Amino acid sequence: MNYCPFCGNRLNNNPVTCGGCGNSLLEAYRLLNEQPNTGGNVNSSQNNNASMDSFYKVADLRHQKKDYAGELDWLRRAEPQYPNDEELKLRIGKVCRIMGKNDDAILSYKEAIRINPKNPVTYNNLAAIYVAKNDNVRALDTIKKAYKLIEDDPSSAPQNQRATIYAGYARCIGMNGDKQSARRLLEKARREGYNPAGIAQIEKAVGLK
Ligand SMILES: [Zn+2]
Repeated sequence: MNYCPFCGNRLNNNPVTCGGCGNSLLEAYRLLNEQPNTGGNVNSSQNNNASMDSFYKVADLRHQKKDYAGELDWLRRAEPQYPNDEELKLRIGKVCRIMGKNDDAILSYKEAIRINPKNPVTYNNLAAIYVAKNDNVRALDTIKKAYKLIEDDPSSAPQNQRATIYAGYARCIGMNGDKQSARRLLEKARREGYNPAGIAQIEKAVGLK
């Protein structure tokens, strides 16, 4: 362990207590299946097969403290060990997005799609980044895939996500000049419980009102 998971302080020589924040590091060592080396005996066969949950626990601690760089650092540590973990890619995408690292977020969402091409929520998250980048062509193309997946199988996304996908698709397609489809999609979003203020905003943005 190179950094304290509680405060992010750099650690040397595997201390039992963090010199930065004073927290006991034994729990963090345990989570990562690492032994603090306080003696002089290094057991080299030990360590480095931490479970995914352990990485998440430490990442969650960082997230709660709004230390997104620290959170990303811990999630990235898990990647070599879990290269095909969809949830990990989604979490990395999310924290990259919070940090404004849009291009890194895009790469991670694309990885998530490689692992599971049938998760509508991933396409929705990816499309939102293209919208933020004003790349309307890619945004429309990507949200359309989310839309097709939930139309084929509504249970592939929870209701609030379906509402978001309909609304997002309405905005993209409306911006592209297809007002009739935008109106139809907004009706679907409304039926799924999308908030009325958000719908009014999209109607205005695409020129329906
Ligand atoms: Zn600390």
